[in-house]
Amino acid sequence: MAEHAVNYVIIVGPQGAGKGTQAAAVAPRLGLEHVATGDLFRAILKSESELGDEVRHYYDQGALVPDDLTIRVLFAHIEQLQEEKRGTTGVLLDGFPRNAAQAKSLDDALAERGEAISAVVLVDVPRPELMKRLTGRLVCSNCGATYHREFNPPKSAETCDQCGGELFQRSDDTPEAVEKRLEIYYEQTEPILEHYREQGVLLEIDGNREIDSVTADILDSLKDRVSA
Ligand code: ADP
Ligand code: ADP
Ligand code: ZN
Repeated sequence: MAEHAVNYVIIVGPQGAGKGTQAAAVAPRLGLEHVATGDLFRAILKSESELGDEVRHYYDQGALVPDDLTIRVLFAHIEQLQEEKRGTTGVLLDGFPRNAAQAKSLDDALAERGEAISAVVLVDVPRPELMKRLTGRLVCSNCGATYHREFNPPKSAETCDQCGGELFQRSDDTPEAVEKRLEIYYEQTEPILEHYREQGVLLEIDGNREIDSVTADILDSLKDRVSA
Protein backbone atom coordinates (compact mmCIF):
# COMPACT_ATOMS: atom_id res chain seq x y z
CA MET A 1 0.00 0.00 0.00
CA ALA A 2 1.18 3.51 -0.77
CA GLU A 3 2.40 5.51 2.17
CA HIS A 4 -0.23 7.83 3.57
CA ALA A 5 0.26 11.33 2.14
CA VAL A 6 -0.39 14.13 4.59
CA ASN A 7 -2.34 16.94 2.99
CA TYR A 8 -1.69 20.57 3.79
CA VAL A 9 -4.43 22.81 2.43
CA ILE A 10 -4.60 26.56 3.03
CA ILE A 11 -7.82 28.57 2.99
CA VAL A 12 -7.23 32.27 2.43
CA GLY A 13 -9.22 35.41 1.70
CA PRO A 14 -10.08 38.76 3.25
CA GLN A 15 -11.66 38.98 6.70
CA GLY A 16 -15.33 38.08 6.36
CA ALA A 17 -14.94 36.06 3.14
CA GLY A 18 -16.24 33.00 4.99
CA LYS A 19 -13.03 31.06 5.62
CA GLY A 20 -14.06 29.87 9.09
CA THR A 21 -17.58 29.01 7.93
CA GLN A 22 -16.31 27.06 4.92
CA ALA A 23 -13.44 25.39 6.77
CA ALA A 24 -15.87 24.00 9.34
CA ALA A 25 -18.02 22.56 6.52
CA VAL A 26 -15.30 21.06 4.32
CA ALA A 27 -12.56 19.92 6.75
CA PRO A 28 -14.44 16.90 8.17
CA ARG A 29 -15.49 15.81 4.67
CA LEU A 30 -11.88 15.81 3.49
CA GLY A 31 -10.39 14.23 6.60
CA LEU A 32 -8.55 17.43 7.50
CA GLU A 33 -8.14 19.11 10.88
CA HIS A 34 -9.22 22.75 10.77
CA VAL A 35 -6.40 24.78 12.32
CA ALA A 36 -7.14 28.51 12.65
CA THR A 37 -4.42 30.69 14.15
CA GLY A 38 -7.07 33.19 15.31
CA ASP A 39 -8.80 30.39 17.27
CA LEU A 40 -5.46 29.38 18.81
CA PHE A 41 -4.94 32.98 19.94
CA ARG A 42 -8.51 33.29 21.29
CA ALA A 43 -7.88 30.15 23.39
CA ILE A 44 -4.67 31.73 24.71
CA LEU A 45 -6.53 34.96 25.54
CA LYS A 46 -9.09 32.98 27.51
CA SER A 47 -6.40 31.28 29.57
CA GLU A 48 -5.44 34.60 31.26
CA SER A 49 -1.73 33.82 31.23
CA GLU A 50 1.29 36.04 30.66
CA LEU A 51 1.29 34.88 27.06
CA GLY A 52 -2.36 35.98 26.91
CA ASP A 53 -1.41 39.51 27.97
CA GLU A 54 1.20 39.67 25.25
CA VAL A 55 -1.23 38.44 22.58
CA ARG A 56 -4.05 40.76 23.74
CA HIS A 57 -1.87 43.79 23.12
CA TYR A 58 -1.86 43.05 19.37
CA TYR A 59 -5.16 41.23 19.04
CA ASP A 60 -7.51 43.94 20.30
CA GLN A 61 -6.03 46.51 17.94
CA GLY A 62 -6.43 44.19 14.97
CA ALA A 63 -2.64 44.09 14.56
CA LEU A 64 -0.71 40.94 13.67
CA VAL A 65 0.91 39.04 16.52
CA PRO A 66 4.70 38.92 15.87
CA ASP A 67 5.74 36.19 13.42
CA ASP A 68 8.06 34.28 15.76
CA LEU A 69 5.35 33.94 18.42
CA THR A 70 2.69 33.01 15.83
CA ILE A 71 4.91 30.37 14.26
CA ARG A 72 5.79 28.87 17.65
CA VAL A 73 2.12 28.63 18.67
CA LEU A 74 1.05 27.16 15.31
CA PHE A 75 3.75 24.52 14.96
CA ALA A 76 3.40 23.41 18.58
CA HIS A 77 -0.30 22.83 17.87
CA ILE A 78 0.29 20.93 14.60
CA GLU A 79 2.93 18.75 16.23
CA GLN A 80 0.56 17.92 19.05
CA LEU A 81 -2.18 16.99 16.54
CA GLN A 82 0.21 14.81 14.54
CA GLU A 83 1.28 13.03 17.71
CA GLU A 84 -2.30 12.37 18.75
CA LYS A 85 -3.18 11.06 15.29
CA ARG A 86 0.13 9.25 14.69
CA GLY A 87 1.22 11.64 11.97
CA THR A 88 -1.60 10.79 9.55
CA THR A 89 -3.66 13.92 9.84
CA GLY A 90 -3.97 16.48 7.09
CA VAL A 91 -4.38 20.09 8.04
CA LEU A 92 -6.62 22.86 6.73
CA LEU A 93 -4.79 26.07 7.65
CA ASP A 94 -7.00 29.11 8.18
CA GLY A 95 -5.43 32.50 8.96
CA PHE A 96 -1.86 31.45 8.21
CA PRO A 97 0.34 32.43 6.40
CA ARG A 98 -0.55 36.13 6.53
CA ASN A 99 2.66 37.67 5.13
CA ALA A 100 5.75 36.75 3.13
CA ALA A 101 7.83 35.81 6.18
CA GLN A 102 5.16 33.38 7.39
CA ALA A 103 4.80 31.88 3.90
CA LYS A 104 8.55 31.28 3.83
CA SER A 105 8.63 29.63 7.25
CA LEU A 106 5.76 27.36 6.23
CA ASP A 107 7.60 26.34 3.03
CA ASP A 108 10.72 25.63 5.08
CA ALA A 109 8.90 23.65 7.76
CA LEU A 110 7.13 21.49 5.16
CA ALA A 111 10.31 20.94 3.12
CA GLU A 112 12.01 19.72 6.29
CA ARG A 113 9.30 17.07 6.68
CA GLY A 114 9.32 16.15 2.99
CA GLU A 115 5.81 17.57 2.64
CA ALA A 116 4.30 20.18 0.32
CA ILE A 117 1.17 22.29 0.08
CA SER A 118 -1.58 20.39 -1.75
CA ALA A 119 -3.76 23.42 -2.52
CA VAL A 120 -4.46 27.02 -1.56
CA VAL A 121 -8.16 27.90 -1.71
CA LEU A 122 -8.75 31.62 -2.19
CA VAL A 123 -12.29 32.62 -1.17
CA ASP A 124 -12.88 36.09 -2.52
CA VAL A 125 -15.66 38.59 -1.78
CA PRO A 126 -15.85 42.27 -2.80
CA ARG A 127 -14.78 44.66 -0.08
CA PRO A 128 -18.13 46.46 0.56
CA GLU A 129 -19.77 43.15 1.49
CA LEU A 130 -17.09 42.27 4.05
CA MET A 131 -17.90 44.97 6.62
CA LYS A 132 -21.58 43.92 6.69
CA ARG A 133 -20.59 40.34 7.31
CA LEU A 134 -18.09 41.13 10.07
CA THR A 135 -20.07 43.59 12.14
CA GLY A 136 -22.96 41.06 12.29
CA ARG A 137 -20.75 38.08 13.10
CA LEU A 138 -21.46 35.97 16.19
CA VAL A 139 -19.06 33.31 17.45
CA CYS A 140 -19.64 30.43 19.88
CA SER A 141 -17.52 30.81 23.02
CA ASN A 142 -17.42 27.05 23.41
CA CYS A 143 -16.88 25.44 19.97
CA GLY A 144 -15.95 28.42 17.77
CA ALA A 145 -18.89 27.93 15.34
CA THR A 146 -19.69 31.12 13.42
CA TYR A 147 -23.09 32.71 12.77
CA HIS A 148 -24.42 35.99 11.40
CA ARG A 149 -27.29 37.97 12.94
CA GLU A 150 -28.93 38.30 9.54
CA PHE A 151 -27.22 36.06 6.95
CA ASN A 152 -26.81 32.91 9.04
CA PRO A 153 -28.79 33.37 12.25
CA PRO A 154 -28.66 30.82 15.08
CA LYS A 155 -32.01 29.22 15.99
CA SER A 156 -31.99 31.04 19.32
CA ALA A 157 -30.45 34.51 19.53
CA GLU A 158 -27.75 33.83 22.12
CA THR A 159 -26.86 30.14 21.98
CA CYS A 160 -24.97 27.91 19.57
CA ASP A 161 -27.13 25.47 17.53
CA GLN A 162 -24.38 22.88 17.68
CA CYS A 163 -23.32 22.84 21.32
CA GLY A 164 -25.55 25.24 23.28
CA GLY A 165 -22.54 27.48 24.06
CA GLU A 166 -22.96 31.20 24.54
CA LEU A 167 -22.53 33.39 21.44
CA PHE A 168 -20.48 36.57 21.57
CA GLN A 169 -19.30 39.36 19.31
CA ARG A 170 -15.52 39.35 18.86
CA SER A 171 -13.65 42.23 20.52
CA ASP A 172 -11.96 42.95 17.16
CA ASP A 173 -15.17 43.03 15.07
CA THR A 174 -15.57 46.77 15.58
CA PRO A 175 -15.56 48.91 12.40
CA GLU A 176 -12.12 50.39 13.34
CA ALA A 177 -10.39 47.06 13.96
CA VAL A 178 -12.04 45.54 10.85
CA GLU A 179 -10.69 48.39 8.68
CA LYS A 180 -7.23 47.85 10.11
CA ARG A 181 -7.32 44.07 9.53
CA LEU A 182 -8.53 44.54 5.95
CA GLU A 183 -5.70 47.02 5.29
CA ILE A 184 -3.19 44.43 6.53
CA TYR A 185 -4.81 41.77 4.34
CA TYR A 186 -4.57 43.78 1.12
CA GLU A 187 -1.06 45.03 1.91
CA GLN A 188 0.59 41.94 3.31
CA THR A 189 -1.47 38.81 2.64
CA GLU A 190 -2.84 39.25 -0.87
CA PRO A 191 0.67 39.69 -2.39
CA ILE A 192 1.79 36.22 -1.20
CA LEU A 193 -0.91 34.61 -3.38
CA GLU A 194 1.26 35.20 -6.43
CA HIS A 195 3.78 32.74 -5.01
CA TYR A 196 1.11 30.01 -4.82
CA ARG A 197 -0.26 30.91 -8.25
CA GLU A 198 3.20 30.38 -9.72
CA GLN A 199 3.42 26.99 -8.00
CA GLY A 200 0.11 26.04 -9.64
CA VAL A 201 -1.65 25.33 -6.34
CA LEU A 202 -3.97 28.35 -6.14
CA LEU A 203 -7.71 27.63 -6.56
CA GLU A 204 -9.96 30.70 -6.82
CA ILE A 205 -13.50 30.49 -5.47
CA ASP A 206 -16.27 33.11 -5.70
CA GLY A 207 -17.31 33.57 -2.07
CA ASN A 208 -20.08 36.08 -2.77
CA ARG A 209 -22.85 33.50 -2.95
CA GLU A 210 -24.97 31.33 -0.65
CA ILE A 211 -22.89 29.48 1.94
CA ASP A 212 -23.87 26.04 0.55
CA SER A 213 -22.95 26.91 -3.05
CA VAL A 214 -19.52 28.08 -1.94
CA THR A 215 -19.03 24.84 0.01
CA ALA A 216 -19.96 22.75 -3.05
CA ASP A 217 -17.50 24.67 -5.20
CA ILE A 218 -14.64 24.24 -2.74
CA LEU A 219 -15.26 20.50 -2.41
CA ASP A 220 -15.39 20.15 -6.18
CA SER A 221 -12.17 22.09 -6.75
CA LEU A 222 -10.33 20.03 -4.11
CA LYS A 223 -11.49 16.59 -5.16
CA ASP A 224 -8.44 15.85 -7.33
CA ARG A 225 -6.00 17.61 -5.02
CA VAL A 226 -6.59 16.00 -1.67
CA SER A 227 -5.98 12.28 -1.30
CA ALA A 228 -8.12 10.52 1.27
P1 ADP B 1 -13.65 34.66 7.86
O1 ADP B 1 -13.23 33.44 8.65
O2 ADP B 1 -13.19 34.60 6.44
O3 ADP B 1 -13.30 35.95 8.52
P2 ADP B 1 -16.37 33.89 8.65
O4 ADP B 1 -16.52 32.47 8.22
O5 ADP B 1 -16.19 34.16 10.09
O6 ADP B 1 -15.23 34.63 7.77
O7 ADP B 1 -17.66 34.69 8.10
C1 ADP B 1 -17.83 36.09 8.39
C2 ADP B 1 -19.32 36.36 8.65
O8 ADP B 1 -20.04 36.26 7.41
C3 ADP B 1 -19.98 35.41 9.62
O9 ADP B 1 -20.91 36.13 10.38
C4 ADP B 1 -20.65 34.38 8.71
O10 ADP B 1 -21.81 33.81 9.31
C5 ADP B 1 -21.03 35.23 7.49
N1 ADP B 1 -20.94 34.48 6.22
C6 ADP B 1 -20.04 33.51 5.87
N2 ADP B 1 -20.24 33.08 4.61
C7 ADP B 1 -21.30 33.80 4.12
C8 ADP B 1 -22.00 33.83 2.85
N3 ADP B 1 -21.63 33.02 1.83
N4 ADP B 1 -23.00 34.71 2.72
C9 ADP B 1 -23.37 35.53 3.75
N5 ADP B 1 -22.76 35.56 4.97
C10 ADP B 1 -21.74 34.70 5.16
P1 ADP C 1 -9.45 37.84 11.05
O1 ADP C 1 -9.03 36.98 9.91
O2 ADP C 1 -10.91 38.18 11.04
O3 ADP C 1 -8.58 39.03 11.26
P2 ADP C 1 -8.49 35.78 12.87
O4 ADP C 1 -9.40 35.05 13.79
O5 ADP C 1 -7.85 35.02 11.78
O6 ADP C 1 -9.34 37.01 12.35
O7 ADP C 1 -7.34 36.51 13.68
C1 ADP C 1 -7.62 37.34 14.77
C2 ADP C 1 -6.35 37.99 15.25
O8 ADP C 1 -5.40 36.98 15.66
C3 ADP C 1 -5.60 38.81 14.20
O9 ADP C 1 -6.10 40.14 14.09
C4 ADP C 1 -4.17 38.80 14.78
O10 ADP C 1 -4.05 39.65 15.90
C5 ADP C 1 -4.07 37.36 15.28
N1 ADP C 1 -3.60 36.44 14.23
C6 ADP C 1 -4.30 35.42 13.64
N2 ADP C 1 -3.56 34.78 12.73
C7 ADP C 1 -2.35 35.42 12.71
C8 ADP C 1 -1.15 35.24 11.96
N3 ADP C 1 -1.02 34.27 11.02
N4 ADP C 1 -0.11 36.07 12.23
C9 ADP C 1 -0.20 37.04 13.16
N5 ADP C 1 -1.30 37.27 13.89
C10 ADP C 1 -2.38 36.47 13.68
ZN1 ZN D 1 -20.85 25.95 19.85
